[in-house]
Amino acid sequence: MSVHTPKSIVIVGGGTAGWMAANLIIHAWPTTQVTLVESADVGIIGVGEGATPYLKTFFARLGINEEEWMPACDATYKVGINFENWSGRQGFKDYFHPFFCALDKPTADMFFHNCQVKRHGGQSHTNPGDFFISGELARQKINPALSAKALSEGIQEIDYAYHFDSAKLGHFLKLKACQKGLTHIIDNVTDVISHLSGDIEKVVTENHGDLGAELFIDCTGFRARLIHQTLKRNYVSYADSLLNNAAVAIQTPNDSNLKLEVQTRSIALSNGWMWKIPLTSRQGNGYVYSDHHISPNDAEQELRQQLNIDENADVRVKHLSMRIGRLGEHWHKNCLAVGLSQGFIEPLEATALMLTQLTVDQFIQQFDNAAQPLDNKRNTFNKQLNTTFDGVRDYIAAHYQLSKRDDTQYWRDNQFNKATPAIFAELKQAWLSRQDFEQSLSKHAQGLVYLRPSWYCIFAGMGAFPENLKPVNNIAPVEQALNYAQKIAQSYFKN
Ligand SMILES: Cc1cc2nc3c(=O)[nH]c(=O)nc-3n(C[C@H](O)[C@H](O)[C@H](O)COP(=O)(O)OP(=O)(O)OC[C@H]3O[C@@H](n4cnc5c(N)ncnc54)[C@H](O)[C@@H]3O)c2cc1C
Repeated sequence: MSVHTPKSIVIVGGGTAGWMAANLIIHAWPTTQVTLVESADVGIIGVGEGATPYLKTFFARLGINEEEWMPACDATYKVGINFENWSGRQGFKDYFHPFFCALDKPTADMFFHNCQVKRHGGQSHTNPGDFFISGELARQKINPALSAKALSEGIQEIDYAYHFDSAKLGHFLKLKACQKGLTHIIDNVTDVISHLSGDIEKVVTENHGDLGAELFIDCTGFRARLIHQTLKRNYVSYADSLLNNAAVAIQTPNDSNLKLEVQTRSIALSNGWMWKIPLTSRQGNGYVYSDHHISPNDAEQELRQQLNIDENADVRVKHLSMRIGRLGEHWHKNCLAVGLSQGFIEPLEATALMLTQLTVDQFIQQFDNAAQPLDNKRNTFNKQLNTTFDGVRDYIAAHYQLSKRDDTQYWRDNQFNKATPAIFAELKQAWLSRQDFEQSLSKHAQGLVYLRPSWYCIFAGMGAFPENLKPVNNIAPVEQALNYAQKIAQSYFKN
């Protein structure tokens, strides 16, 4: 069977998802006619400032270097996330979830060893940030891009991600796509017309007539104009295990006296958590909360207090609601949903754009797979993507269900939540009852998105260990790990 490249694609929606999809598609299928229509009346969501290391592959694939896109998007480097006030256990006030790299190998092994010691009744040092290079980079605010010296020595690049202004990123990607021949239309899609087969025939716009295509990509955000409103594909809700469903965001100026952080800060508050994201131009802040537990107004006031902003001060405040869950079918008939239209897992680990990119990458891969009939490709694709979404959900839910905070009804509802995702329930059981945790991780390897180091970090960082600890001797010395990380941090990076 020969590979069929789509002749034409219409993307509806010009948020980050629409523009990322457009660029990846033009890159993969340069002969396809791509049109993107976005509404001037319906804005973009305009938040989403943190990424995972996967985003590096997006820019690398498109041949766009950091020197070009980072200044255009006020971007900064990100080496991980610092979780503050999450645990509720004495001695575990905060912990760092690092991005990992090959250089971590010796000290990461010490960390895993110490965790095992503690799980089996010993006392040992298990603060994740002390065993990984990115922990040291975050403490010293060192950018993770390797220096010329490190490159000349053949040091392998470390994994890192970025923070950026999402509106500027969208604009940057729009220019790139338009330069490569994309047709950009600003208009409202008012109707979607389907063939009897159920495939979409065309979308109807207010001022630009009907737009027909072979494939349609729904990037209309939470509205899901094509995939949900027209094709009636339903959502699988994650609301039972993830209680947050709203957010409020406020931007603040940077303190010019301070060096920029290279980490996201995630600070647990009374009924959710707040993000603090450093950009070169400003700081992004927001409070993600459950509106069943706190009103939007009280959440805003709590966020203002955290930011030392007077309750009457005139600042731009953005209130958002979030639908937490995923579609059962992300690719149905000739329509693919990408971005918020396909689902959203709250932004605790900043995974949305990773899922967006993965969706388009896997779609292109499946579509180009000549060996499979279309129905099989769709089924495989939907199944894989659902597993990935569920895997991210599992790790996010773990943050809430491992916390011992009980100072508000919100934290008690999380701590005693019976809706524990199955894989996380098994990992937790294995970890806390001193079963073979490695075996448990291997058993679920197919369903895990977050891998071994991340699971060790979250259990250890939260201080979730079996009870009744007693002293044992064979502990890996943390001083040795810290010395190693400090030596690398000072030798291999640009500043
Ligand atoms: C509180 C919060 C924090 C977040 N933080 C992160 C983060 O740290 N990291 C991360 O990766 N992600 C994060 N996200 C998710 C991220 O913001 C989104 O994944 C990203 O912005 C992509 O959104 P989108 O393009 O799918 O939708 P939107 O930005 O909502 O864009 C929708 C587009 O569809 C168009 N449209 C809608 N209806 C029509 C119509 N009828 N006709 C024509 N056009 C139409 C609109 O004009 C718009 O262009 C966060 C989300 C929230 C809610």
